Amino acid sequence: MNKSIIIIGAGPVGIIFALLNKSLKFNILLLESNSKNQVIKDKRALALSNGSKFILEKIDVWNDLSTKITPINTIHTSQKGTFGRAVMKAEEFEQESLGFIVSYGDLITSLNKKLSNSKKIKVSYDSEVLSFNKEENKQTLIYEQKLEKKLLDCDLLVLADGGRSKIKGIDIEKTNKSFDHSALVSSVETDTPHSNIAYERFTSMGPMALLPNLNGKYSLVWTGPKEDIKSLIGLSDSEFLIALQDHFGERVGNFELCEKRITFPLKQSFISKYPKENIAVIGNSAQVMHPVAGQGLNTGIRDAFILADCIESEDTNLDIKSMINKFNDMRKLETKKIVKLTESLVTIFSNDFVGLNKFRGIALSFLDLIPPLKKRFVRKMSYGK
Ligand SMILES: Cc1cc2nc3c(=O)[nH]c(=O)nc-3n(C[C@H](O)[C@H](O)[C@H](O)COP(=O)(O)OP(=O)(O)OC[C@H]3O[C@@H](n4cnc5c(N)ncnc54)[C@H](O)[C@@H]3O)c2cc1C
Repeated sequence: MNKSIIIIGAGPVGIIFALLNKSLKFNILLLESNSKNQVIKDKRALALSNGSKFILEKIDVWNDLSTKITPINTIHTSQKGTFGRAVMKAEEFEQESLGFIVSYGDLITSLNKKLSNSKKIKVSYDSEVLSFNKEENKQTLIYEQKLEKKLLDCDLLVLADGGRSKIKGIDIEKTNKSFDHSALVSSVETDTPHSNIAYERFTSMGPMALLPNLNGKYSLVWTGPKEDIKSLIGLSDSEFLIALQDHFGERVGNFELCEKRITFPLKQSFISKYPKENIAVIGNSAQVMHPVAGQGLNTGIRDAFILADCIESEDTNLDIKSMINKFNDMRKLETKKIVKLTESLVTIFSNDFVGLNKFRGIALSFLDLIPPLKKRFVRKMSYGK
């Protein structure tokens, strides 16, 4: 009889993991608490790395996405109040693009399209997992669908729930850090074409990014202390555009229009103790990081890829527990490094100490002038290593 994999969460990481499983050794079921169309409304812009593109090509989703993505040809990094800046162009690194912008909703739509063509993978929407139980060799899940409680057995449980739900019986210890910051996300237009340039600007309030997106618009991610972000939400559109112009400067021309503003709380976490049972943890369930370097989803996609590879490379008598241990060993160090690198970007560049501003300006110019340093940075951001 085939073994069964249950994936909790049909977010991007859960779906990508399901689609990566080529092996016929498993029956795969995705359980998602949202209804099928609910998540599609999420307009958050995500920067996909070249490493993620490779994986999306592998599962044959990239073609469908190609009309919904905007390539990044140049990344311009600067700091408010100093002259230092770093410019990275794709051609310097012999790459077609440095990354691609896609909205969360468009990515999910393309992934769902691919899922609906799969005969092997089953998806159950409106299904919220409530608890997990292990007795001797049997693992059982209880989930609720349309007010009815249902029970399922599984050999391997893959937790891809984004880390937000509290499922009784799953015991994971995490190291958490709250930045007391939140992110404001919107779509904005200026009077100058974006020319596929992404802007990252460090300010004492927090980092902000303007990412080139469809129809000549930019996706704005403005991070800062919760109270400051809250007051930006309270402004009228015209007041907000003035505040944005003042904060970002003239580099992209005049800000003319903005769409609805949405906020996300920001935190950081990674696993300090893995569950003992046959549970693999991937994506935001395993690690959450500040969006400054656009690495959250890219790291989750790599988790999915490596877990699928660990399963694939085992023989038919797969020892699930030892396979999960191997996966955890492969991911532990790499994930922690990415989380820490992201954290240093936030703390070094969002600090108001006297003298640090000048040092950061010099650091950016330094990065700009030393090609091997730039190459290492771009490699880490593109392929996670
Ligand atoms: C403002 C902002 C900007 C970002 N920008 C970038 C970027 O540029 N690049 C990048 O790589 N990352 C970025 N990220 C991070 C990225 O959004 C996340 O890393 C990514 O969404 C994680 O995907 P996931 O599938 O692990 O989790 P999620 O997207 O959270 O999906 C989890 C799914 O599980 C479901 N679920 C939860 N609990 C249960 C349950 N009990 N039972 C059943 N289903 C359940 C949820 O409904 C959801 O569909 C950004 C994040 C923010 C907040």
